[in-house]
Amino acid sequence: MAILIVDDSPDDRLLVQSILSAANYDHILTADSAAAAFQLLGLDGDQHEAARIDLILMDIMMPDMSGIEACRQIKATERFRDTPIIMVTVKTDPVELQLAFAAGALDYIAKPVNKVELLTRVRSVLRLVHEIDRRKAHEQELLEVMRQLQEANQMLLRLSSMDGLTGITNRRQFDDFLDQEWRRAVREVAPLSLIMLDIDRFKSYNDALGHTSGDECLRQVASAISGAVNRPGDLVARYGGDEFVIVLPGTRTDGAAQVAETLRQRIQSLDITHSDGKCLTISVGSASIIPSRNSSATELVKAADQALYQAKQEGRNRAKQAGILTLVPPSDED
Ligand code: GH3
Ligand code: MG
Repeated sequence: MAILIVDDSPDDRLLVQSILSAANYDHILTADSAAAAFQLLGLDGDQHEAARIDLILMDIMMPDMSGIEACRQIKATERFRDTPIIMVTVKTDPVELQLAFAAGALDYIAKPVNKVELLTRVRSVLRLVHEIDRRKAHEQELLEVMRQLQEANQMLLRLSSMDGLTGITNRRQFDDFLDQEWRRAVREVAPLSLIMLDIDRFKSYNDALGHTSGDECLRQVASAISGAVNRPGDLVARYGGDEFVIVLPGTRTDGAAQVAETLRQRIQSLDITHSDGKCLTISVGSASIIPSRNSSATELVKAADQALYQAKQEGRNRAKQAGILTLVPPSDED
C-alpha cells in the first residue's frame, strides 16, 4: 500500500514517515507542497506516469495552496475519487474541519502527531481501501457474469425460435407470429395471407439419396425461400418435415399468388436433381383473408393446406389458391 505525505514542514514529514516506516509501511512518498503532490499524482498537466497512491496524509496549513484546496482538487479527479485523504492539522476547530470534510477529506489527525492515533487511523483507512478494491473487483466480476448471462439468454431465445436443421424460424415461433399478426389484422381490418409449400415426393429423394442429402436439400430450399421473400414484415418458417410456411401481413390474394408462383419457380431453378433424374419441385397453396373477430387463424392455415393438397392432387409442381377465403379484393398496390 502506497502512502503519500504532503507537508511543508520537513520535521513533520520525517516524524510521520518514521512512524509509518517503523510500522512496516515501506512504500512511502513525500511532497513538500500541493504542487509537488500534484506532480507525483500526475495532476500537473505533464504527460508522465503517475504514482499509485492508496492513502494521502495532507497538512492543511501550507504556503501557496492550502491542504483543503489541494484535497478538493485531488478528489475532483475521477482517478482519485475513491483515494482516501486524511488531514493532518494543528487547526482542529470545527469550521476548518467542516471545510476539510466538504472538500472530500475522510478523516483528520491532530498535530502534534500521536504515534498510536496515526497508526490506528492509517490502518483503518487502508483496511477500508482494501475493502473498496475487493468490492470493486467483485462488482466487475458480477457485471461480466451478467453480460455473459444476457448473451446466453439472447442465444437461448434465438435457439428456441429457430429450426435446428435449416436455421430459419421454427413451428413454435410461427404459431406465435401468426397469432400476433392475426390479431393485428383484426384490429386494423387488414388483409393477411399465408402460403404453405411442400417438397414433391421428398420421401423418395431421401430413400434414394440418403438422409444427409435430404437434410442438405431442406437447407437449400429453406435458404432459397427466405431469399425470395422480401418484405420486412413477412415470416418464413419450417412447418415440419418438408413443409414450409410463409406469413404475409398486409398482402392480398393476388400478391400472395405472385409470391407463391415466384417460390415455385425459384425452387425449380435451383436445379436440384431428384431421385428420378428430374428437377426437384415444390407444390404451393396460398390463402388470404381480412380476419374478423369471430374467425380464427386456424381457418387460414387449413385453407392454405387445402390449396396445397389440391396442388398435389392436380399433379404437383404448381401453386393453387384457396377457394373459400379468397374474398379479399385485389388492391392497386399488389
Ligand atoms: P408429396 O409430394 O406428396 O409431398 O410426397 P412426399 O414424399 O414429399 O411426402 P411427404 O411430404 O409426406 O414426405 C415427407 C418426407 O420428408 C418424409 C421424410 O422422408 C422427409 N423428411 C421429413 N423431415 C425430414 C428431415 O428433417 N430430414 C430429411 N432428410 N427428411 C425429412
Ligand atoms: Mg412432400
